Amino acid sequence: MPLETDASYACPSCGEENALGVDPTAGRRQTLVEDCPLCCRPLVFSVRIDGSGDALVERVERE
Ligand SMILES: [Zn+2]
Repeated sequence: MPLETDASYACPSCGEENALGVDPTAGRRQTLVEDCPLCCRPLVFSVRIDGSGDALVERVERE
């Protein structure tokens, strides 16, 4: 498994596409809080890791 994988998402605040860096070894389901790099608003991500170690953003919302 890679140490970090990227999951793309659309920011619910500014609408821009971004990539979130996820550590796939941290669990099959993760909740992460990161600031959007463009509008700097804190976002809450619900992330799922699939069987091959790829990360999918299932939900992203403003904190
Ligand atoms: Zn944003």
